Amino acid sequence: MLKQPVSTLADYRRAVGGPAFPSHAIALTIDDGPHPVWTPKILRLLRKHHAPALFCMIGNQVLGHETTARDVAKDGHHLANHTWSHPTFLGRRRYKPVHKELHRAQEKIYDTTGQAPVLFRSPGGDWSPALLRASAGDGLIPLDWNKDPRDWDKPGVPHITRRLLAAKPGDILLCHDGGGDRSQTYAALAIVIPALQARGLRFVALDRKPPTHR
Ligand SMILES: [Zn+2]
Repeated sequence: MLKQPVSTLADYRRAVGGPAFPSHAIALTIDDGPHPVWTPKILRLLRKHHAPALFCMIGNQVLGHETTARDVAKDGHHLANHTWSHPTFLGRRRYKPVHKELHRAQEKIYDTTGQAPVLFRSPGGDWSPALLRASAGDGLIPLDWNKDPRDWDKPGVPHITRRLLAAKPGDILLCHDGGGDRSQTYAALAIVIPALQARGLRFVALDRKPPTHR
């Protein structure tokens, strides 16, 4: 069992195994969707730049937005479990409600997309030994990030862009497609993805298993 969540690509390889990432690898993770407006826009952007991302989906957002969730998987992106209802302070909850949050989201994501997540991201990055035990018990690898532009707080496109452009090889970036108006995130990513690629960085997928479609 991991004592800390994975927050860099080096952590990820230590936890998951497999061949090392290329030295110029970087990962983009996108949380709180699927969202009927922002997810398709971000998908088009990723397609344009041939960049994979990890979408950390909330079960009750997949509910009602099944087509959008399937579109993410169909584009070859990997999906992570981001709980059923995105509760705050999940690290303080008891095992039973935590297990329910993880299990319900896992079922919904799998039933909708045919992809069973192997990674779990706690809302707000709230972790505790009990939560790490619970995710291990459910066969999920705990995942954090190490570059947070705080895009959810709408700090402005220049702020988000600047923070993301500070990314270095091996980083795991955090962005959001759900939870509100993500126009700033979208505008920043449209600048940042090609800029990081032009610098020689390569976006890599985060999952130990290839996605399977039904
Ligand atoms: Zn979240």
